[in-house]
Amino acid sequence: MRLKKRKYIVVLGSLMSGLGKGILAASIAKLLQCRGLKISPIKFDGYLNVDCGTMNPYRHGEVFVLDDGTECDMDFGTYERFLNIDLEGKNSITGGKLFRGIIEKERRGGFLGRDVQIVPHLTDEIKDWVRRVGEEQDADVVIVEVGGTVGDIENAYFLEAMRQFASEEDVLFVQLTFVPSLSEGELKTKPTQHANRLIQSMGIHPDIIVCRQNEPLTREAREKISMFCNVPQEKIFDDPPLETIYELPMILEKQRMSEILLRELGVDDKGEDMKQWRQLVEKIKNPKKEITVAITGKYTAVKDAYVSVKEALVHGGAYNSAKVRVKWVETSDIEEGRASVKELLADCNGVIVPGGYGSRGTEGKIACIKYAREEGLPFLGLCFGLQMAVVEWARNVAGLKNANSTEIDPNTPYPVIDLLPEQRSIKEKGGNQRLGAWECRLKKGTRTYEAYGKEKISERHRHRYEVNNDYVNRLEESGLVIAGTSPDGSIVEVVEWPDGWGVATQAHPELKSRLEQPAPLFVAFVKACLDVEKKA
Ligand code: GLN
Repeated sequence: MRLKKRKYIVVLGSLMSGLGKGILAASIAKLLQCRGLKISPIKFDGYLNVDCGTMNPYRHGEVFVLDDGTECDMDFGTYERFLNIDLEGKNSITGGKLFRGIIEKERRGGFLGRDVQIVPHLTDEIKDWVRRVGEEQDADVVIVEVGGTVGDIENAYFLEAMRQFASEEDVLFVQLTFVPSLSEGELKTKPTQHANRLIQSMGIHPDIIVCRQNEPLTREAREKISMFCNVPQEKIFDDPPLETIYELPMILEKQRMSEILLRELGVDDKGEDMKQWRQLVEKIKNPKKEITVAITGKYTAVKDAYVSVKEALVHGGAYNSAKVRVKWVETSDIEEGRASVKELLADCNGVIVPGGYGSRGTEGKIACIKYAREEGLPFLGLCFGLQMAVVEWARNVAGLKNANSTEIDPNTPYPVIDLLPEQRSIKEKGGNQRLGAWECRLKKGTRTYEAYGKEKISERHRHRYEVNNDYVNRLEESGLVIAGTSPDGSIVEVVEWPDGWGVATQAHPELKSRLEQPAPLFVAFVKACLDVEKKA
């Protein structure tokens, strides 16, 4: 730690959800990181699930996976993409983890005969957790994002813990709010005033207010918010609609956010270093080329379900000075005859089949993979995408009619994809897939080796099924390239088509893609799409 005393910033949502609290917290963290400080982000989610592993991405968005196998909220992806750091399970606090911990402690007799209460026992637990993360990760500044909105029952005890925390540590509170406008130029500040009053009624006084809006904050609106919320005007920030989320740190910096934060925290300002970040944002905003990539899947109705894939394409695009337009392809439309593969993919430069579970839409995905292979369209398969690429190859090239994954068809004559052996005895659902970072050894001379430029790689995983080793010889004999396996050779990790750019991985490389360090396979895939376009 560089600072004499650790500082804490607590980011609160007010008024309504969906304002981009995670992006704001990540942007504040980025600004401070660019000033040379070491940052630890923590997010609290009030749900009683222990983690996101059992949640449906339709309802909750993508399940993000960390190196240590923690399945967490997609905001962790935003933090990692902005900060280019690897987070740990302890950065994620959930209602489920807190209650499970406290009940287990009570059963062990950990409260010495006392009745166990939300205040002080649970709130003490929360404060200790936040302090411990700062200590163990040697952070200068810990940023705590409180999930949900002020006024929710789910986060009330957490806010109470933060209120207490403020009298024990150096804590700064940031309120994110929305300032609607009914007609042009007529910004309404009253909702923000009410929300602010609600926060103050909990004993918390926001030091900084960030206003999401659809038109620039007028002087009058700023004056009103300042007066009614007791926050000086210079500490009220404008958070406008943006072309790219990665621009937010710079928008806040223009309003002197880091200078004000450092002053409030009592930290010496040693100047900023945002050069690389600025250059990358410029590349995103001013692309030289444009391509369209199809992403198939059954959660296409909720684009948040694939946010890491989408962002990895932004990163891979920026690296290639290209804008990647995404076309979402609902593959059940193909299966049910509402659309043809050809129609759907005609205007695409490449196809991605991302992760997935269950059978709906799979035949449509397999049809898309076949089309890409036969038409020479670059293809990237991610986890379930690898499994479906192997099924497609087995059926259409290796001659294994009706080959399938046993997840989809338990009675298939050729189970080319089957449960991982250690998964057979598992009955419970939470946290027991093959999770987190696993090493893979790449074969020299493959496209994947070329993309990574090294033999040993590590990517994050989340799956129960794998390529069935009984079929590896058949697949190889028919030409499929096994480009990577687990170090002991027991799990197929990457396969490639012998012709054209088709790579599929059992991992989720999108989970480790950051703006400053894009995922190698996404960079290579975008480049392949651009090359194909050049030829056309
Ligand atoms: N359903 C597949 C499995 O469990 C793929 C999972 C995924 O794509 N994350 O192996």
